[in-house]
Amino acid sequence: MAEPETIAAQAGGKIDPAVGALIPPIHPSTTYERAADNSFPHGRIYSRPENPTYAAAAETITALEGGAETLLFSSGMAAATAVFLALAPGDHVVAPKVMYWSLRSWLLDFATRWGLRVELVDTTDLEALEAAVRPGETRLVWVETPANPLWSVTDIAAASAIAKRAGARLAVDSTAASPALTQPLGLGADLVVHSATKYLNGHSDVVAGAVVTARKDEFWSRIETILRRNGAVLGPFEAWLLQRGLRTLFVRVRAQSASALALAERLSAHARVREVLYPGLESFAGHAIAARQMRGGFGGMLSIRVKGGEAAAITAAAHVQVWKRATSLGGVESLVEHRASVEGPGTPAPSDLLRLSVGLESVEDLFADLAQALDAAHGGANDR
Ligand SMILES: *Cc1c(COP(=O)(O)O)cnc(C)c1O
Repeated sequence: MAEPETIAAQAGGKIDPAVGALIPPIHPSTTYERAADNSFPHGRIYSRPENPTYAAAAETITALEGGAETLLFSSGMAAATAVFLALAPGDHVVAPKVMYWSLRSWLLDFATRWGLRVELVDTTDLEALEAAVRPGETRLVWVETPANPLWSVTDIAAASAIAKRAGARLAVDSTAASPALTQPLGLGADLVVHSATKYLNGHSDVVAGAVVTARKDEFWSRIETILRRNGAVLGPFEAWLLQRGLRTLFVRVRAQSASALALAERLSAHARVREVLYPGLESFAGHAIAARQMRGGFGGMLSIRVKGGEAAAITAAAHVQVWKRATSLGGVESLVEHRASVEGPGTPAPSDLLRLSVGLESVEDLFADLAQALDAAHGGANDR
């Protein structure tokens, strides 16, 4: 079996038998020919349930995660919500208090009205997690690690043991880590979910999602049915771009992790920064667990809390030039975002928090730009 870097670089490495091409084709066809004997000799009928363009990306992700199969969705939200919709109304689920904001809102709004009993808990606190799961009643434990936007770290192996004892599945939103750094299935998770919009594609030009399963069981068939019937399928052009992005996953994520660590260390010493939240810092609460379950780096995401409160944070963001003020993460260009402005009331993001997605620019440029922006904000903000 090839090393993961090799699998990613070649996106599966298949040569097209028809023409000898190294790069897979895009199949835009929505439909497939039925033979005269009334059969479908290629096994495909219609493109909503199945398009051959998915294979390279889906199989690459399966191999990188060490799973049994991957389904691609039209977005990370479509992927994540399919996992919850595969449950039944009345089922009890446990999810983190700190997690991707839109999914948390969907759980509290749509999923609750649909009939799921949703309990939010601090999943980094294993005693609290243990107390929240109800043996025989809890069907799914959802964790995100490192988790938006505080980058809190949940112990996947311990969460898996707690879920198993209660008879529940464990699903891990591993968007921030990517398979370049963490393989949740190997740590006991049953499902891994990605917003492939982020590191997997890596170029801020595709919205996509993926769910990977450890086993092809009945629950997996339900997720598959939801994809194919509800129809939140990926377009073939997006699937093609995703396999292209995956080829550079390891070099991107390693470089981004190294730059994020350097920035975290340097920003920790900056006079205008109250606190740096990054799993790679030894002082960070979840560092020891992150060091165990992440390999090759701690990811490209960090947050800083700016001295002077909300006004200073927003003013600092207003002064960046190299960094771009935008939401999302995992692309090659660095992004800064005042997270509380996006999440609105009820956000766990402190009002002085700026979320940083570190790209591939020079780390010197990135630091100098943030440092001047923080200084400019300090000049304009009354923080002493
Ligand atoms: C972006 C994101 C999602 C949602 O993915 P979309 O592709 O935007 O629908 C889910 N989880 C995490 C951690 C994310 O960052």
